[in-house]
Amino acid sequence: MSESDIKFIRNNYKTMTYSEIAKVLGRSAGSIKDKARKLGLNKVRVLTDNEKEFIKENYKTMKYKEIAEKLNISTDLLKSKMQKEMKLKRRITIPHHYTDEENEFIKNNYLNMKSKDIGKKFNTDANSIHNQLKKLGLARDSTWSGEKHPNYQGGIAFEPYDSNFHYKFKTLIKQRDGFLCQKCGMREEDSKTLFTKGLAVHHIDYNKKLTIKENCCSLCLRCNSEVNSNRKSWTLFFQSILSEKYGYKYEEGKIILNIDGGQDGKS
Ligand SMILES: [Zn+2]
Repeated sequence: MSESDIKFIRNNYKTMTYSEIAKVLGRSAGSIKDKARKLGLNKVRVLTDNEKEFIKENYKTMKYKEIAEKLNISTDLLKSKMQKEMKLKRRITIPHHYTDEENEFIKNNYLNMKSKDIGKKFNTDANSIHNQLKKLGLARDSTWSGEKHPNYQGGIAFEPYDSNFHYKFKTLIKQRDGFLCQKCGMREEDSKTLFTKGLAVHHIDYNKKLTIKENCCSLCLRCNSEVNSNRKSWTLFFQSILSEKYGYKYEEGKIILNIDGGQDGKS
């Protein structure tokens, strides 16, 4: 290939196709392509605004292959342009067709399984399960209660809070505890900074209906979630702390209320 041929390639590889150049130089398109590659001339296909507009308008409904053919580029190039340059992501949702068995499975398990987990079983996603639940008339809603609730844990953790358990009571407990987490000692202010939430008031025996000061203490968010396991030993742990600090009495995890001493539990 002569110097002038090479010069021609250099000057025109960006605007002419290889076969067009080949025609001019009387060579094969393949040899032009080879030469260009050897010269380090990567033919960068720049999409025009119109072409980009076309992609934007059609990428959701047309196949990559169809768009690529229209623009006379390869599907690989199209994909890379869409992803890297145009930041367009095509979400391909393959509709899942539910078999009778799957529908049956959903009916039997939607109350105690998460949509996401059911979805995994059927190789689909939570959204699809959610839609299917609706179709089956099984839409999850807030009317779940008791044993039917997906978070049912033996009737303890999710019983509705006692009506006494309002803001005032919580504040009283936190005041009593000096606004400190009774497990790690974190201050209420620090809890707010760290967790964007103040201290929680924890039910020591996990019975949320037993909302009395002997059964409640302040915990930061982290400790509050830590005490979800090993419940028995945590109950005893906090009871011994409150017993020491405030003179409350417990026996084998049960609260001993001093009736004579009135509501205060003090004699
Ligand atoms: Zn804590």
